[in-house]
Amino acid sequence: HAKSQGRNTYQYFMNSMNKAAIERFAIDRDIKKALKNKEFFLYYQPQLNLSNRKIVGAEALIRWKHPLKGIISPDKFIPIAEESEVIIQINKWVLFTACYQVEQWIKQGFSPIRIAVNLSGYKLAKQKIIETINNVLQNISFSAQNIEIEITENILMQDNEETISTLKKIKEMNLKIALDDFGTGYSSLNYLMSFPVDTIKIDRSFVMNCTSKNKNLVIIKAIIAMGHSLGKKIVAEGIETEEQYHLMKKIGCDEAQGYYFKRPVPKNEFAKLLARGSL
Ligand code: C2E
Ligand code: MG
Ligand code: MG
Ligand code: MG
Repeated sequence: HAKSQGRNTYQYFMNSMNKAAIERFAIDRDIKKALKNKEFFLYYQPQLNLSNRKIVGAEALIRWKHPLKGIISPDKFIPIAEESEVIIQINKWVLFTACYQVEQWIKQGFSPIRIAVNLSGYKLAKQKIIETINNVLQNISFSAQNIEIEITENILMQDNEETISTLKKIKEMNLKIALDDFGTGYSSLNYLMSFPVDTIKIDRSFVMNCTSKNKNLVIIKAIIAMGHSLGKKIVAEGIETEEQYHLMKKIGCDEAQGYYFKRPVPKNEFAKLLARGSL
């Protein structure tokens, strides 16, 4: 009964496709509502200097408190948001909110720390990101140098000329640029190193599976050597164990982030970490 089976498969395929499409549509609609209803909030994960474990920065990470579904992680909705222009609004909101938060911490008496913000999706140029940054800079008392924009390889691969020119403008405004999830894309090291970035964040998949023996270590060492020789700072993402911490420190990583030190926390808890100063 190949024929009827074929039809069933087809029907099943269509049904599941519809289901996925409908769900995406619903999420897209909900995201727009969520922006209006202020359902998004940020968590902050400390970034440490590996040599002394001092907190040198925070990465802002978005969360969605959905009225029915509870807290939704960015992996569930950012990829969908990235398929439409709604990601532009999210990026703007995150940039404003994170910088406003640093401003609050400064008002509470903490010295300004570096704040890292993820910008994804759509071509950077299309996001009018320069305009947004200008706007943000007019509303803060700390230096633009304290703002680090995290982008991934795929943003660099889209529409190269415009992207490079946007990145150059961001650099001219004195912000820092970090290349996130480094090593997961398809481009060559050489190529990536030619972009105007200050920081390379080694993807946690390398760090997680790294032991003193396996070949991930060889790759990480190569990234560090190349990065350092080009004057870039190297951050290890996703350090979960003491062994990984010692290993990354030993091979010369500059900074680190990971559950071993601290998971992302709400703003009030992060203020307590700032009061401690190191982890
Ligand atoms: P990312 O920018 O690479 O952020 C790091 C992710 O790794 C975060 O997940 C963080 O909680 C997680 N992480 C940190 N340390 C560890 C560790 O030791 N072990 C493990 N297993 N995970 C660790 P999160 O917050 O769920 O974010 C996931 C991704 O969603 C981010 O990856 C980023 O691509 C995206 N994202 C998060 N917030 C934003 C945002 O505000 N805007 C945009 N455009 N994208 C965002
Ligand atoms: Mg990031
Ligand atoms: Mg990352
Ligand atoms: Mg990521």
